[in-house]
Amino acid sequence: MAKQTNLHCSFCGRSRDEVKILIAGQEGHICENCVEHAEEIISHELLERDDLQVKQYRFNIRKPKEVKEYLDQYVIGQEDAKRVLSVAVYNHYKRITQKTQADDVEIEKSNIIMVGETGTGKTLLAKTIARQLNVPFAIVDATVFTEAGYVGEDVESMLTRLLQVCNYDVAAAEKGIVYIDEIDKIARKGDNPSITRDVSGEGVQQGLLKMLEGTEVLVPPQGGRKHPEQKMIKINTSNILFICGGAFDGIDKVIARRINTNAIGFNVNKDIREDQKNNILQFINAQDLKGFGLIPELLGRLPVVTHLDPLDAEILRSILTEPKNSLVKQYTKLFSFEGIDLKIEEEVLDFMVKKALEYKLGARGLRSICEYILTDAMFDLPGSGTKELVVDLAYAEQKINKSKLNLLKVA
Ligand code: ADP
Repeated sequence: MAKQTNLHCSFCGRSRDEVKILIAGQEGHICENCVEHAEEIISHELLERDDLQVKQYRFNIRKPKEVKEYLDQYVIGQEDAKRVLSVAVYNHYKRITQKTQADDVEIEKSNIIMVGETGTGKTLLAKTIARQLNVPFAIVDATVFTEAGYVGEDVESMLTRLLQVCNYDVAAAEKGIVYIDEIDKIARKGDNPSITRDVSGEGVQQGLLKMLEGTEVLVPPQGGRKHPEQKMIKINTSNILFICGGAFDGIDKVIARRINTNAIGFNVNKDIREDQKNNILQFINAQDLKGFGLIPELLGRLPVVTHLDPLDAEILRSILTEPKNSLVKQYTKLFSFEGIDLKIEEEVLDFMVKKALEYKLGARGLRSICEYILTDAMFDLPGSGTKELVVDLAYAEQKINKSKLNLLKVA
């Protein structure tokens, strides 16, 4: 034992009494400090040499016009939302890549809120933007979150999803995009929040405030509720872009009320009034969202408000064929794998749109309608030697009539 006092770390030279642990090697020793330091050097070196994760998420910053051009390839219509999103996203990434300037002008975050009926392309827009920028992207549903102490998930767990998609690469996650769907479902119910506890409404909105603004958050690596024994991952949310979306059913009445009140005494142009009736959402602003039950503090952290237009027959028709990965292109490719040339006649496309509108299925329903029409062929044709499938109106009608679509008929 007497010899032990002469022991020292062969790397830093600290003696046995100056360190907590001294690990013996064949001809020397290493202390815990040097192990830790060596670990840092190793991970840094590995990252530099073979920085797969970092390369995977080296983001592409594009000018707003380029962002919009990219969106145009995948999303039909929604001009207003595309322009607003392109600018907001560009500014956001300019903000985070800019070095701190001496003039103290601090650019604030441009988190976004999108309002539009379900199935009009909100998620698609957010997803497409994330793909173009090449940043981690997570979709979360606001309805699963509740205030601490109640059944549900902590709001922090939305960052778990972001971490999971980028393999727990914290640096990448800190520049990612989170799309919070159904934000309208956490609107405050009723005007007086103090009478009843509103655990999934205002409480959750409060919980979101800090995170949206930018703070250090301790995230449970597996999601769900935080509990004390769990090891947490620290994430700074200052550079995470939050995009919220919701249908806000009934908000048109709130907008209409505001516009009408404002219009009293003014000579309002008749054309504009007609326009207002058709698509009143285009006039949405933060005040209306407050009227719907989002708290002002939350709205303050979602400064960019935009709307999505309802999809009419013409747009639905374009959605079938125009986007880069349109449904028709996807099915054509699926059949081509089997050596089958798929031809869908024009009138079948109109028929599909008619059915989607008739059953109020929107763009999402187009997919099921295609499935109803093509499933039998996808079952029977592979391996049959058939080289071509022409889908005409009679064929489509027959498949739809025997499908379960009729059960969806709204009474
Ligand atoms: P939301 O988030 O508004 O409920 P989604 O973005 O999930 O709607 O849209 C559902 C699906 O409908 C998308 O995956 C896409 O296939 C299609 N879709 C909806 N709107 C559009 C659009 N404007 N352009 C192209 N496809 C669309």
